[in-house]
Amino acid sequence: MQMEEIARAGCTGIGFGLHSEIVAPYILHYGTEAQKRKYLPRLASGEMVGAIAMTEPAAGSDLQGVKTTALLSPDGSHYVLNGSKTFITNGWHADLVIVVAKTDPAAGAKGTSLLLVERGMAGFEKGQRLKKAGMKAQDTSELFFNDVQVPADNLLGGAALQNKGFICLMEQLPWERLQIAITAVAAAQAAIDWTVDYVKQRKVFGQSVAAFQNTRYTLAELQTQVQVARVFVDKCCELILRDQLDTATASMAKSWTTDLQFKVMDECVQLFGGYGYMWEYPITRAWADARVQRIYGGTNEIMKEVISRGMGLGGAK
Ligand SMILES: Cc1cc2nc3c(=O)[nH]c(=O)nc-3n(C[C@H](O)[C@H](O)[C@H](O)COP(=O)(O)OP(=O)(O)OC[C@H]3O[C@@H](n4cnc5c(N)ncnc54)[C@H](O)[C@@H]3O)c2cc1C
Repeated sequence: MQMEEIARAGCTGIGFGLHSEIVAPYILHYGTEAQKRKYLPRLASGEMVGAIAMTEPAAGSDLQGVKTTALLSPDGSHYVLNGSKTFITNGWHADLVIVVAKTDPAAGAKGTSLLLVERGMAGFEKGQRLKKAGMKAQDTSELFFNDVQVPADNLLGGAALQNKGFICLMEQLPWERLQIAITAVAAAQAAIDWTVDYVKQRKVFGQSVAAFQNTRYTLAELQTQVQVARVFVDKCCELILRDQLDTATASMAKSWTTDLQFKVMDECVQLFGGYGYMWEYPITRAWADARVQRIYGGTNEIMKEVISRGMGLGGAK
C-alpha cells in the first residue's frame, strides 16, 4: 500500500523501496542475530540508508560474471574487498551496502557471498552521482573498493552463508520483481487519473479534448489494460504471501506491467500535447521515471529468458 502511494505520487527519492523492501529484508532473512540487532533498528529509524551493490561495469544481466573479490585474510579475521560497482541506487547516501563479491573466485556463482560494508571503512570510496534521464530525486552511484578490510563478522549470515550468496540473491528475486510490478501499476493508474482530469478541462476547437472519440477510446483501452494488470499483480501478492510465487510468474508480472506502464505514460503524454513534454507537469516526470522500470531488477529481455526457461525451452546460459 505504502509502495503504491509512493509510486502514485511519483516520489522517487531516496530509493525508499530499495531501502525498506530489499536491503532490510536481506538482513532480516539471512542476517545473524548480531547483524539483525546492529542494523535493523537503524535502518528502520532512517539513521542508516541501505543499498545493494550487484551490478559492475562489465556484469549487469550476467551477474555470475561479478569480478569483485572478497578474500579471507590468513588469520580469518577479515575479508579483503576489491572491485567496483555501478548504477547503485542510494549508493551516494548509503551508510550500509550489501556488496555481492566472490569469496571463492574459482567457484563462479558457487563462490559468491554478500558482505555488509559500512560507510567510512578505509578504502571504500563513492564515485560520482550518475546523471539519469529520470528518477532524479534518487541517487545512483558508482562505488569503489580498494583493499577494504571488512570484518569477518560482516559476512551476511556468517560463515554458514559463505559462498551461498547467489542462492540468497535468487531467493529474493520474486519479491523484488513483484515490487516493481506493484509500482508500475500504481504509477500507470495515477497517469490515467491525471490525464482524465486534464483532457476534461483542456479546450481545443471549442470543445474539451475528452470529447474526441480518440481520447476516450485511448483512455478506455489503457484503463482496461491497467485493470487487468492490477488483477494479475494482486494474484501475485496473494501467492507471495503464501510463499508460492515462483520466479517465472514474478518475471511475467515485472516485464508485462513495466512495458504497459511505459506505454500508458507515452500515450498520456500524447494527450497532454506540448504540456506533456514540460518538466513542470507530473506526467512528464512519470514518463521519464517509467523508462528504467524495463531495465533494472533484471531487464525485460532477461525476464523473457526466465519465463521461457520455466516453460522448458532452454535458452542462453
Ligand atoms: C536507475 C538504475 C538503478 C539501478 N539500481 C541498481 C542497484 O541498486 N543495484 C544494482 O546492483 N544494480 C542496479 N542497477 C543496474 C541494473 O540492474 C542493470 O542496469 C540491469 O540489470 C542491466 O544490466 P546492464 O546495464 O549491464 O545491461 P547489459 O547486461 O549490458 O544488457 C544490455 C542489453 O542486452 C540485453 N541482454 C543481456 N543479456 C541478454 C540475454 N541473455 N538475452 C537477451 N538479451 C540480453 C539486455 O536486456 C539489454 O537490452 C540499476 C540501474 C539503473 C539504470
